[in-house]
Amino acid sequence: PVAGELVLAVDAVRKTFGGLVAVNDISFGVRAGEIVGLIGPNGAGKSTTFNLITGVLPATSGGVHFRGESILGLPARAISARGVGRTFQHVQLLPGMSVLENVALGAHLRANAGVVRGALRADRADEARLLHEAATQLRRVGLGEYLYEQAGNLALGQQRILEIARALAADPVLLLLDEPAAGLRYKEKQALAAVLSQLRTEGMSILLVEHDMDFVMRLTNHLVVMDFGTKLAEGPPAEVQANPAVLEAYLGG
Ligand code: ADP
Ligand code: MG
Repeated sequence: PVAGELVLAVDAVRKTFGGLVAVNDISFGVRAGEIVGLIGPNGAGKSTTFNLITGVLPATSGGVHFRGESILGLPARAISARGVGRTFQHVQLLPGMSVLENVALGAHLRANAGVVRGALRADRADEARLLHEAATQLRRVGLGEYLYEQAGNLALGQQRILEIARALAADPVLLLLDEPAAGLRYKEKQALAAVLSQLRTEGMSILLVEHDMDFVMRLTNHLVVMDFGTKLAEGPPAEVQANPAVLEAYLGG
């Protein structure tokens, strides 16, 4: 994508679960090479928004365009194949497998339709190519010295970065990261922030769900704030932070 291109356009997307409106006609965009912060209290609808964009859940109504094409309603694997990568709120690694295998397997599963069928069909050439690509992505995020370590032995901060490497192996244009800094120590957050700003420098677009305001403010010029499924505010961090509705949602309850 060219700098400034609107990579992701979310238009009045809605999701109800029975009587609960989890995502209430939310609209926002992400441009090429931009990190957008998506913030809001627990239960605001942030993860559900990710699930709608990535095709994990069907939307009730609305539209999502990725690089100008409608993706809402496509299967998750098709959306991923077009260049939308993601990580989940809870670490989803295979702890007994190596760091390298975790990334290679993740890329492989994305490239193939069914999990089991995909795993069985990898031939030798495929496997070598996937391992090579996995190692490249791990070096890109600074995990090059841990390729053969068991994933479960890494510190939480490294596991989160490993998950980002796994998403990168599918060659995304846009990354959706769901609370990658949650539970991390200060130094781990610093390392994660360095990885994210490096990716942005390389042209990656990132939609970042995060609770730690200091962390997100360091990385973004654009915040979208959700509360009870609704978009409360949107704009530069300083402006959004001074918004009375935002202060109320965070402090007033
Ligand atoms: P956030 O990520 O901002 O904390 P979520 O998107 O996880 O919020 O949840 C938004 C609301 O939708 C919450 O009230 C949650 O309980 C509800 N919710 C999320 N997923 C489901 C589901 N699969 N079924 C029913 N309710 C759900
Ligand atoms: Mg969530």
